[in-house]
Amino acid sequence: METVRTLAIIKPDAVRAGNAGKVLSMIEGSGLAVEAVRMFRLTREAAGAFYAVHRGKSFYGELLEFMSSGPCIALVLSGENAVARWRELMGATNPSSAADGTIRKLYGTSVQFNACHGSDAPETARQEVAFFFSGAELPVN
Ligand code: ADP
Ligand code: MG
Repeated sequence: METVRTLAIIKPDAVRAGNAGKVLSMIEGSGLAVEAVRMFRLTREAAGAFYAVHRGKSFYGELLEFMSSGPCIALVLSGENAVARWRELMGATNPSSAADGTIRKLYGTSVQFNACHGSDAPETARQEVAFFFSGAELPVN
């Protein structure tokens, strides 16, 4: 199987709570490779562009508020089947239905404040990686 990339974000709630190191440790333990990392605070505008697929949903406004509320950490992860493996490690969107041992179960506190983001498909992953990382920072090979 080929190596693919996915975009992960340790969201502002997890950074604020001091859980970023623990999440990084889980990523390292999973065998996924970390190819690039950046820490920054999103503007509301950038959060809106990143989550444009959710425009019009009831939670869109509060999602932008949340995602621009403090620093987050964006990572490019890679490995075989990395998109699905990272989503499995994150757990379900709502921490209350996430499997035991997943990041969202351990560190998420609500369907909104759910500690992390992961791309949902390889094509989305390509777009999301390019949203945060330039070709100069992340060689094609
Ligand atoms: P995922 O992050 O698992 O791919 P979605 O793409 O459906 O989930 O939603 C994006 C983000 O929007 C979620 O991770 C969560 O932070 C927030 N969100 C999703 N559904 C709700 C909801 N019903 N109420 C509040 N926030 C939500
Ligand atoms: Mg999603």
